[in-house]
Amino acid sequence: MAGPRDRKWDARAGRKRIAVNEPEARDDDAPTAGLKSLFIKTYGCQMNVYDSARMAEVLAPLGYRAVETPDDADMVIMNTCHIREKATEKVFSELGRLRPLQRRKEAAGGRMILAVAGCVAQAEGAEILRRAPFVDIVLGPQTYHRLPEMVARATRAAGQGVLETDFPTEAKFDHLPRERGVDGVTAFLSVQEGCDKFCTFCVVPYTRGAEYSRPAESLLREATALVAAGAREITLLGQNVNAYHGAAPDGGTWSLARLIAYLAEIDGLERLRYTTSHPRDMDDALIAAHRDIAQLMPYLHLPVQSGSDRVLAAMNRGMTGDDYRKVVARLRAARPDLALSSDFIVGFPGETDRDFADTLALVREIGFAQAYSFKYSPRPGTPAALEPPLDEALKRDRLAELQAVLDAQKIAFNDATVGRVVPVLIEKAGRHPGQLVGRSPYSQPVHLDGAGLEIGDIVETRLTARLANSLSGAAVARRAAAERVA
Ligand code: SF4
Repeated sequence: MAGPRDRKWDARAGRKRIAVNEPEARDDDAPTAGLKSLFIKTYGCQMNVYDSARMAEVLAPLGYRAVETPDDADMVIMNTCHIREKATEKVFSELGRLRPLQRRKEAAGGRMILAVAGCVAQAEGAEILRRAPFVDIVLGPQTYHRLPEMVARATRAAGQGVLETDFPTEAKFDHLPRERGVDGVTAFLSVQEGCDKFCTFCVVPYTRGAEYSRPAESLLREATALVAAGAREITLLGQNVNAYHGAAPDGGTWSLARLIAYLAEIDGLERLRYTTSHPRDMDDALIAAHRDIAQLMPYLHLPVQSGSDRVLAAMNRGMTGDDYRKVVARLRAARPDLALSSDFIVGFPGETDRDFADTLALVREIGFAQAYSFKYSPRPGTPAALEPPLDEALKRDRLAELQAVLDAQKIAFNDATVGRVVPVLIEKAGRHPGQLVGRSPYSQPVHLDGAGLEIGDIVETRLTARLANSLSGAAVARRAAAERVA
């Protein structure tokens, strides 16, 4: 079994101290076959970005290597998202664009395996194979650990689509490669998947299935490997991440707060974030973690969706606007500089002027550093899709009004940080020569002169100006090398 080799126990705290080591080799590491090119197009959320990376890892032992374009690829995967408006039709349009490439490859004597993955694949299933019979594989989000087997079946039987959209009883995470590479100094780690909350506008419970939390031990192992591979920041992912309740090494169950406490013990892991949270699952321990765990960054995406109790009830959010206000007050008491982000749906069926005014009032009261706001659009198969829709123009006007307030709040938040000195994790090169781009604790992109700095450094930076979607800054001090590399 792969796993951290060196665990020192802190007897006083009763916690494991985890040192990062080279990942162990696995017995079942497959030999690399002849190289083939793989293009994955990812739509939607960070969970899909994570899933795409894992699909690439699952296919690597078969010889597949990522390429930048689908033009001459041996395999193309569309990792789809059902959250997008008219998502299904957009998938078929994209398939129509890929078909000539597939034909060209066939004409040259080759083969392009075309796969549709993700939530649209889960929702549409056999319909994709019926409308686009040139698609070789349709696989849902719970089955991508079986991709090698599907590729083998598709290779053996060209023209007979392979469909895998069930929710297997075995946990897919147990069947994925244990070691992971890291592209850069930040990494995602999927800790939880699926959802049991059934908000009336959302497809996730139908496409991702019931909530499942990964065992803590395998998460500690994966996080340790990520840090060994160069990650300095890890974002824990889940559709309902703070509902996490994974099996613990001692036979009990860990909450997200407990998991974060253990992850924070990994040497070299400087920053932790998590997304997406439900306000209902923000328990005392998690709120305290924002106060007590230095690695947990003071930025939290906590969707409220609406400020109207009536609309929140119709959405089946299981909370009121005041419940949200109380959670935010407790969070801010624990971590006064916490920057908040949220999602909003405007024009939900039945939303009145008064309901919308309640949303604006909540936004003005809370103050958001960042937000994502959308006009409501129905998702097939969800309860809200059966309700009479609001007028499009009304939805558009309300959205514009809300976004004006949210934009002003974002500008005010960024302006308030100008002049402050904050630690910035350098993530990548900027567009201009010598420039580097990093991220502040509040998740703001920061551009700065890279002289004497390296990707992966965490550098004390004075924020000097607000730009359109980022900030500029100037390094004022570097952390000592000993601090930078634990
Ligand atoms: S809690 Fe989030 S993922 Fe679950 S149904 Fe509601 S919106 Fe969808």
